[in-house]
Amino acid sequence: MKYYSLNHNAPNVSFQEAVIQGLATDKGLYFPETLTPLAPSFFENIENLSHEEIAFEAIKQFVGDEIPADTLKQIIAETLCFDFPLVEVENGIYSLELFHGPTMAFKDVGARFMSRCLGYFNKDDKDAKNTVLVATSGDTGGAVASGFLGVTGVDVVILYPSGKVSDIQERQLTTLGQNIRALEVDGVFDDCQDMVKKAFLDESLNHMRLTSANSINIARWLPQMFYFFFAYKALKSQNKPLVFSCPSGNFGNICAGIIAKKLGLPIEHFVASTNVNDTVPRFLEKGIYDPKPSIATISNAMDVGNPSNFVRIQEMYQNDLEQFKKDFTSYTFNDAETLVALKAIHNERGYIAEPHGAVGYLGLKKELQNIPNAIGVFLETAHPIKFLDVVEPALGVTLPLPEQIESVMNKEKVSVKISTYEELKAFLG
Ligand SMILES: *Cc1c(COP(=O)(O)O)cnc(C)c1O
Repeated sequence: MKYYSLNHNAPNVSFQEAVIQGLATDKGLYFPETLTPLAPSFFENIENLSHEEIAFEAIKQFVGDEIPADTLKQIIAETLCFDFPLVEVENGIYSLELFHGPTMAFKDVGARFMSRCLGYFNKDDKDAKNTVLVATSGDTGGAVASGFLGVTGVDVVILYPSGKVSDIQERQLTTLGQNIRALEVDGVFDDCQDMVKKAFLDESLNHMRLTSANSINIARWLPQMFYFFFAYKALKSQNKPLVFSCPSGNFGNICAGIIAKKLGLPIEHFVASTNVNDTVPRFLEKGIYDPKPSIATISNAMDVGNPSNFVRIQEMYQNDLEQFKKDFTSYTFNDAETLVALKAIHNERGYIAEPHGAVGYLGLKKELQNIPNAIGVFLETAHPIKFLDVVEPALGVTLPLPEQIESVMNKEKVSVKISTYEELKAFLG
C-alpha cells in the first residue's frame, strides 16, 4: 500500500516510510491510496471470528507485504491484550468500553500497534534508532509510555506541562524508566507542543530520526477502526441500524470509524460529539471551516480548536457535503450539560461514565431522535478513575483504584525539568 500526502506536494511512500516519518515532507497527513471493501462473506461470518482474526482482515491491506502475515498477527495479538466490553446502559444504548488496556484509555490500542510496527522495522539494524517525541496534556503520554516500553530500537521522550496533569497521569508518564524519558516543562501544553513542532523542523536533529505518536501517524490512527468491527460483531444479531457517537477532539477515532464503513462495515450514522471546542459542528452548520484557539473544559482530552484528522474525513467525502451530512452529524455540549448527563447516567442507570463518555452519550441521544429504530453506541474512551477530579465530586462516590493504576502509584517519579527549546535540544543531544 502506498500513502499520499493530503497536501499533494510530497512523494508517495510505503507503509513503513509513512509510519517512520509521521508527517509528509510537505507537512500533509498521509492517506492510503486505495480503500478496498472487505468481502461480503467476511461480514456474513464475522460472529465466528476472534477479535484478532477480525483485526487482521481489517488492517492487512494497509500494511501490504511490508510486515509478514505471521508477524502482523503477533503484533495484533500483543495490541489486543485486553477486552472491549459493550455495556447496555439503557434500552438500545450501549457504552463501548475502550478503557480496559494498560493505561485505561483507548489510545492504548494505537500506541501498542504503532510501537510494535516501529520495533519490527528496526529489527535488522542494531544501530537504527527512532526517537518518538510527543507532547501530552495527559492521556496520550501515558499510553505512549506504556505502549513503547521495552520496544527495541525506539526511544521515547515525552513532554508534559509541569503541574498541569493529574497525579495518576504524571505517574503513568514518569515511573516506567527503560527507553521512556519524561521532560517536565515549565509552561502549559501549548509550550510543549511548540517545542515538539520546532524539533521536527530542526534539521540539526535529523540524525535522531524523530517521529510522532499522535493520531496523525497512520499506525496510531488506523488500528482504531478495530473496535467498530468488534461492536458490530456483538450487535449484528439484533439486525437494526447502528449509530456510533464518538467523543471527538482530534477526530482520529471517528475518522477510523469512517474507514471501517468504507471497508463495508454496515454503520448507519456517525455522531461526532464535542465539548465547546466546536469547530466541526460550526462547519456543518455554516459550511465554513474556521478553527479557533482551544478552550479548557472538563473533558480536556477533547480541548482541540483545530482537529488534525478532519482533513482525512473530508478526503473521504471529496467535498460532497450532502453525502457527508447523510453519514455524519456533529453536536456540541458545554460542561454544565456534560455534568447533568454524567449524573443522570449514574442516578437513573447506575452506570459510572466520565466526562468524555458523557459528551458521547449526549450526542447519541440527540441523534437517535432522528433515527428511532436504531441501536446506539457511544465510545467510553477512558476509565472514570482518569478523571476522578470531576467524577468523584459530581457523583458523590469514591472510585476504587484499578490494578493498572495502583501499580504505578507507588513507583518513583523520574523527570527532567526544562523551560526552553535549547534545553530540549541539549537533552536530545
Ligand atoms: C484522545 C481522547 C479523546 C479524543 O479522541 P480523538 O480521536 O482525538 O477525537 C477522547 N476521549 C479521551 C479520554 C481521550 O483521551
